[in-house]
Amino acid sequence: MRDKKELTRKVKQEANRLGFPLVGITTPESPEHFDFYQEWCAAGFHGTMGWMASKRASERRSDPKNILPECESILMLGSPYPSPSPTAGEKIAAYAGNQDYHEILGERLQRLVHFLEETLGEAVPNRWYTDTGPVLERDLAQRAGLGWIGKNTTLINKEFGSTFFLAEILLGIKLDPDPPFLSQHCGTCTRCLDACPTGSLIAPYTLDASRCISYLTIEYREMIPLELRHLLGDWIFGCDICQQVCPWNQQKPEDIEILDGFFPREELSNIDLVEEMKLSQDAFSAKFKNSPIKRAKRKGYLRNIAIALGNQKSKAAVSVLAAVLQDQEPLIRGHAAWALGEIGGEKAQKSLADAAFQDEKNPQVKEEILRALNNLTK
Ligand code: SF4
Ligand code: SF4
Repeated sequence: MRDKKELTRKVKQEANRLGFPLVGITTPESPEHFDFYQEWCAAGFHGTMGWMASKRASERRSDPKNILPECESILMLGSPYPSPSPTAGEKIAAYAGNQDYHEILGERLQRLVHFLEETLGEAVPNRWYTDTGPVLERDLAQRAGLGWIGKNTTLINKEFGSTFFLAEILLGIKLDPDPPFLSQHCGTCTRCLDACPTGSLIAPYTLDASRCISYLTIEYREMIPLELRHLLGDWIFGCDICQQVCPWNQQKPEDIEILDGFFPREELSNIDLVEEMKLSQDAFSAKFKNSPIKRAKRKGYLRNIAIALGNQKSKAAVSVLAAVLQDQEPLIRGHAAWALGEIGGEKAQKSLADAAFQDEKNPQVKEEILRALNNLTK
């Protein structure tokens, strides 16, 4: 089939059928915000995510043809996930409540390429990503007409809000490009900036990722900075606040189709943090085998849970936190000590005192134990 218009129509129709109700096409020019991205990295806002600022990643982000030299069109796709609940007390970001989107969407992107090749009767040079490639995908999505970049830095679509996964396929064939989305619909609203607990949205459209709860609870592998721990509240994987408050996520049509694997698993909708703190490595691996949560690894996940328990000041958590003071992971021991210091009480104090007498080899954990104990005894 060589009719470009008809091929474009068919590909879009198939993308819709495969679970991407948002589809747009753009061309492989440099993304408009490439200079902004470089300045953002130079300011260190990417934190420890060194892969975002590497020379190779920069070169590839500057021009899609540095990824796929034959690229003539880019198919930009969006697949919705359930809206975050506007009520407080959510602990896991809405996108992560079930299966890993990389797995679900990756398989569908492959099927879409296969469809295109079957329709054309020949191989098509391609490269697909879903949040995995060196592509400024929100820029490309805006240029493909899918929406605008909001002050909370997400891509927002008038109908779907911002709760959808973005994916893209770079293609070595010409398709009909869509007009870019040129208007901006945040207006005078600043709800996301006002609601962000850590002040990560330092200005409209500018995120200091190194302070963002999503980054801290998922990507960051170290001890969470002391001054940020209270601000994490009870988020244990990601954070939805700047999307929860966005008016564009409040009133969405009821009939938006969401792929099965993205609806939250029952046991992740209402987590008992005390029980969760007991997860062994095997239990963690089995529970999160196909889940985005595996990215945090057991040690990051239990670190986050310890912080949430400390913030909840729940006496019911003292026994389990005291037990994990013996965990083999220093990251978990250190945050359990902090949490016990926050909860306080005789039993918490005694478990910290016992730990202080033991021969803790890790200096950071030792410091956490002594500081917690000190706070409780002064
Ligand atoms: Fe702030 Fe949470 Fe949004 Fe990060 S995800 S910018 S911490 S509201
Ligand atoms: Fe824009 Fe308001 Fe939504 Fe923030 S909360 S992204 S300012 S509309």
